[in-house]
Amino acid sequence: VDDEEGGVLFLPGSNSLSSSSSSSGYGYVSIEKQRQRLPVYKYRNAILYLVETHATTIIVGETGSGKTTQIPQYLIEAGWAAGGRLIACTQPRRLAVQAVASRVSQEMGVQLGEQVGYTIRFEDVTKQDVTALKFLTDGVLLREMMADPLLTKYSVIMVDEAHERSISTDILLGLLKKIQRRRPELRLIIASATIEAKSMADFFRPRKKRREPKNEEIGLKVEPAILSVEGRGFNVQINFAEEPVHDYVQAAVSTVLSIHERESTGDILVFLTGQDDIDAAVHLLNEDMQTNGKHSSGLVILPLYSGLPRAEQELVFSPTLRGKRKVVISTNIAETSLTLEGIVYVVDTGFSKQRFYNPISDIENLVVAPISRASARQRAGRAGRVRPGKCYRLYTEEYFLNHMSNEGTPEIQRSNLVSCVIQLKALGIDNILGFDWPASPSPEAMIRALEVLYSLGILDDDAKLTSPTGFQVAEIPLDPMISKMIIASSQLGCSEEIITIAAVLSVQSIWISGRGIQKDSDEAKLRFAAAEGDHVTFLNVYKGFHQSGKSSQWCHKNYVNYHAMKKVLEVREQLKRIAQRIGLVLKSCESDMQMVKKAVTAGFFANACRLEAYSHNGMYKTLRGSEEVYVHPSSVLFRVNPKWVIYNSLVSTDRQYMRNVMTIDPSWLLEAAPHFYKLQQPNLLH
Ligand code: ADP
Ligand code: MG
Repeated sequence: VDDEEGGVLFLPGSNSLSSSSSSSGYGYVSIEKQRQRLPVYKYRNAILYLVETHATTIIVGETGSGKTTQIPQYLIEAGWAAGGRLIACTQPRRLAVQAVASRVSQEMGVQLGEQVGYTIRFEDVTKQDVTALKFLTDGVLLREMMADPLLTKYSVIMVDEAHERSISTDILLGLLKKIQRRRPELRLIIASATIEAKSMADFFRPRKKRREPKNEEIGLKVEPAILSVEGRGFNVQINFAEEPVHDYVQAAVSTVLSIHERESTGDILVFLTGQDDIDAAVHLLNEDMQTNGKHSSGLVILPLYSGLPRAEQELVFSPTLRGKRKVVISTNIAETSLTLEGIVYVVDTGFSKQRFYNPISDIENLVVAPISRASARQRAGRAGRVRPGKCYRLYTEEYFLNHMSNEGTPEIQRSNLVSCVIQLKALGIDNILGFDWPASPSPEAMIRALEVLYSLGILDDDAKLTSPTGFQVAEIPLDPMISKMIIASSQLGCSEEIITIAAVLSVQSIWISGRGIQKDSDEAKLRFAAAEGDHVTFLNVYKGFHQSGKSSQWCHKNYVNYHAMKKVLEVREQLKRIAQRIGLVLKSCESDMQMVKKAVTAGFFANACRLEAYSHNGMYKTLRGSEEVYVHPSSVLFRVNPKWVIYNSLVSTDRQYMRNVMTIDPSWLLEAAPHFYKLQQPNLLH
């Protein structure tokens, strides 16, 4: 083991480094040397040879071994980007796309957005004819196929983090396999941290009967190559909780404090589930520092989740100051997508936010759910990168052995398939059940999706995209219900307003919230609250923000998240451009909110709910599946409980909560979707 790797030698802060050769003189290890120390470096020639000679190469290697940052650079060095061709590297997560692109551009000593660029939804940091290596989300690559079905500009496509089995990764794998038949010269690299490489190889192995003569003609092996990068992780000592933990946020905070008190130097990585509990943990730790300084002095507490401002994201990668201990409190993005140097202690709460879909009730939920044993092992592994480490699991060994599943279920088997179906249809793939999936989605979910798309007017009787609505919806990179709402608004003359609402719905939250400020922020919200509900409230906030001259002070005063509002402005501009491109009319309805509400209903009629007549606790039932739901406390309609509402999405904790809720007149439902609500008609009359 190189002793220089002992957690002391770090890269200078991300922004201070502009060229790869200038760093060696400052007491840091040169970038070149760091690159050569990564486990993947020994395999450089082997990887290049396999990619040269095989249509598909599967590379398995532990997190931190250098797959994401190094392999694309090797490809450039070997000439795969020559002659104006592009190399793509996909990631399931937006935050990972930005972070690795920024890292690789530093390593190469180039400006981000020039030779090395990235594209995520609503953000394209690439330059035509200059960018040779592009990091992008798997979802964005799928969208690129709509304009260029064979992805002709790419010479090599590396599908990274394949073990995550995100819904877009799975669709992408199926489509890439098809593309390979038409473009035998295209090279695929499937990279992952765990994966049973064999099943992935089986998927890419051509069926016996259908030989692939084209590949053989150009001298390429069709049998996928598998390469396993030997890591050099250190031992990690595992500690289980002795008894089940009731409040995992509190338990995580106590564990961090006790590690800090008892253990030697080394940074701590805590796995929580999302912004809410991460903010809560950060708050508790900060509170402890103020009241009880001696335990927690020297701690530098950093949250990590997508939706965090860029500058804050980058802090987690910056070196720890001498005498300080960094505590990174993260979602499962730090499980395999991002490598943080210097972590010696991992606190694993055993949970993550996962998507679940029930085709019977047609309800999709983001749920805090137990992780799999495979994930737990990955998380523990993060403690052993620089030296032997320790992992504290906040669940019992009995639970780990008997109640956690061995591996997670691919996302496609626990998601609503509406977006997936539209994308495949837009690419001309009609037999969706017969599509070559790495893992087949359930037929029930597929039928539900077809039904919803039919009632939204996106598919016709032959299950083909309707013209123009279906094709227009496919062009808008948003949830089809939101896209449908935008298209309806063009007809109703309120697209300016609806595009604002769509932009707000696509950022995480425009409100500042958190323990300790809840009362003040609720009061601030009342200044904007509209009787119609959250959607119209958003319009009021947007208007206020505009009138203030887009002032950050105004945001601060009103508990509005300035960073989120800036994002809303950006997304709004992009949506306007898309709307114009697909021929929608941009128009404002001024103050006729009835039109706005009808447009929202045109997209979200399937999410209609009625207040239970005898309910004293605000219980609603969905019209669709009679599921019990409640207005989320963050909604301006919380405790108002109007009789008829529609919601944008559901979250479930102890109950199912509707987020972003709007009042409706039930007769609009029949107007918006006569077919959909025909059967429930008697229901609608009282
Ligand atoms: P893999 O994809 O195999 O998990 P990566 O290529 O992401 O590995 O990481 C290789 C190494 O590059 C890491 O061990 C880390 O030292 C370094 N690294 C990656 N991203 C960053 C970053 N944003 N800042 C600093 N170092 C980084
Ligand atoms: Mg990686």
